[in-house]
Amino acid sequence: YHAKRAGRGRVVVYSREMEDAAKRLTRIEQALRRAVSAGEVEPYFQPIVDLATGQITGFEALARWTDRDLGPVSPACFIPIAEERGIIGPLSQLVLRKATEAARHWPDDLFLAFNLSPSQLVDQNTGLHILSILDRAGFDPRRLEIEITETGLMSDPRSAKKIVDDLRACGIRVALDDFGTGQSSLGRLREFSFDKLKIDRAFVSVLLEDKPAEHIIRAILSMCEGLGMASVAEGIEEEAQARRLVEFGCEGGQGYFFGRPANAEATLRLLRSNKSLRPLGT
Ligand code: C2E
Ligand code: MG
Ligand code: MG
Ligand code: MG
Repeated sequence: YHAKRAGRGRVVVYSREMEDAAKRLTRIEQALRRAVSAGEVEPYFQPIVDLATGQITGFEALARWTDRDLGPVSPACFIPIAEERGIIGPLSQLVLRKATEAARHWPDDLFLAFNLSPSQLVDQNTGLHILSILDRAGFDPRRLEIEITETGLMSDPRSAKKIVDDLRACGIRVALDDFGTGQSSLGRLREFSFDKLKIDRAFVSVLLEDKPAEHIIRAILSMCEGLGMASVAEGIEEEAQARRLVEFGCEGGQGYFFGRPANAEATLRLLRSNKSLRPLGT
């Protein structure tokens, strides 16, 4: 009898937790819809550097949202909700519009990197939306780099390939983001032409202690060289990691060691100070 009660009790607690989670999701969804219509999601910009010189070569735009009641909400939380609830299109267009407006004030040899979500790679209007935003901002497509993940290629590879090919035909570069953590096969690298490969932070963070991670990074870099793809290592937090990566022939770097994501204004100030970020001492 006791056990039965406990069992029944558990069922009740469980469903209440699910109800709370569902309510929280809906609350975030509603707040996000409102924020997107009010233009309240902002791009922050994280520098990407030439590892050998520390010179900034471009910035990755990363969406930031602070709700009046919920406070700052991480993109790791709101991007998946935006995808599931059909808000990703307008959200993405808002962030790209603001990002290209900000990037117009940068030296014009710097690129802007922008993330696309998996669901945007099954929507054949994505390319048109991007191009019309660039057109309106007077932003050269050759300065834009689209970042997509292996997951984004999985659900409908044909559709994704068409979008990628169309973007590249317009001069937009395409980077494969978070490489090494998704579930796609190396065969995708043959089917798709990527301009750049971004090595996931998971490898970089253990690089100094972990021989397997070192071998994997070296293999990825040699593959990049063979396939004519540029390379960038993500999540560099220490100078020693940057040094190792240069030794291995990695071209680009990104991470807190060089700079955290910052808003448009702070990014412009950084560029006007015209310093290379943390050149590696000799
Ligand atoms: P991502 O594209 O792989 O972006 C890199 C993430 O790593 C960013 O997290 C960045 O702040 C973080 N990061 C950079 N350097 C370091 C480091 O040295 N150490 C650590 N621990 N983290 C570092 P963030 O901004 O929270 O974004 C998370 C993810 O959300 C992004 O991963 C991207 O997949 C997605 N995302 C962000 N903005 C957008 C957007 O506008 N559109 C879409 N579709 N996705 C976005
Ligand atoms: Mg990215
Ligand atoms: Mg990444
Ligand atoms: Mg990542």
